[in-house]
Amino acid sequence: MNSKLVFPAFIDVHVHFRDPGVPSTETTASGLSAAARGGFGAVVTMPNTSPACDSPEAMLYQQRRRDEWLASENPQRKPVLLTSACITKGRAGREVANLESLVEAGVAFFTDDGSYVADDHVMEEAMRRAAALDMTVCDHAMDPKEQGDGVIRDCPLARRLNLPIIPVSAETTAIKRDIAVCRVTGCRLHIQHISTAEGVSLVRDAQKEGLAVTAEATPHHLLISCDDIAKDDANFKMAPPLGNKEDISELRRAVKDGVLMFATDHAPHPAEKKSLGFLKSANGIIGLEAAIPLTWRVMVEEEGLSPDKWAAAWSIMPRSILSNRAESLLANAPDTVVEVGNRRAVEVSNFVSLSRNCPYDGIKSDCWPADFLAS
Ligand SMILES: [Zn+2]
Repeated sequence: MNSKLVFPAFIDVHVHFRDPGVPSTETTASGLSAAARGGFGAVVTMPNTSPACDSPEAMLYQQRRRDEWLASENPQRKPVLLTSACITKGRAGREVANLESLVEAGVAFFTDDGSYVADDHVMEEAMRRAAALDMTVCDHAMDPKEQGDGVIRDCPLARRLNLPIIPVSAETTAIKRDIAVCRVTGCRLHIQHISTAEGVSLVRDAQKEGLAVTAEATPHHLLISCDDIAKDDANFKMAPPLGNKEDISELRRAVKDGVLMFATDHAPHPAEKKSLGFLKSANGIIGLEAAIPLTWRVMVEEEGLSPDKWAAAWSIMPRSILSNRAESLLANAPDTVVEVGNRRAVEVSNFVSLSRNCPYDGIKSDCWPADFLAS
């Protein structure tokens, strides 16, 4: 028998809309349509647009694009668009952006997502200033020196194709540095798309120490092991890369324990950038229209998590990293309504997203957003 569950707005704190930049892969309108169909009440856009979102004007552009979408399509479900902005000017890692003016403009949090802020002094200055503004700094925790030219974790496919490996230390070195800066600055720190058991353990220890450290797990890192990648298919390539079964079980355990929240890292790319194999393809996959079913599948169906705790990782926990201004906008965010008991499979070809880079086709779940079932 089907049952309907209603939760406070689910918030995806990690989406890439390619607007401005590559609107053929995702506009603000198509991204918001995908978020609506996926059952979300709000999304936070990442600032690695082109040009990068590092100014109040760039933030305003995105809100204008949402207004245009509302005016032209008058959608039934209207997700709130929250905007993150760069930690550093131009997302170049050298000079801290004008964080103060971005807060004035209502920024949700700061991140250079797509790049790690490698300069320790720049990160420390940013986190000192962000702390004074009562803001969260989010980090794409992958140390480029440790990563080298790696494209995948050590796994059977990597060995078979002789692909360059991304070591676990790429993530742990970055997280250790970030936690150290959090400790001296008192700034709230959020680790984006955490992927390794060792990284999760660092976050657990920081939380035990009483530091304001949070982290997010994506559906793909919770669902797919690098050991199961059968062929040279870049729909399994992302940064950070897919972990092994031990990583997956630690990520799931951390979600159960309330250590990790969810986020998609919805990252659209054109087919020509994802058809070049692991060595040359772009990083990232889309996920907005499958994230609620798939996190339900792994955490509720497979791990036995209660629906309320599962929902908290999409709704209550993400609020803790938002600015007060961004959180106040959530008063307008529509509730998330899901139907349980209607088992069906993900069909990537039916997505309303403009992109198709997604490895989830055919994966089944019992839980689907009401908006998805109605569309
Ligand atoms: Zn990232």
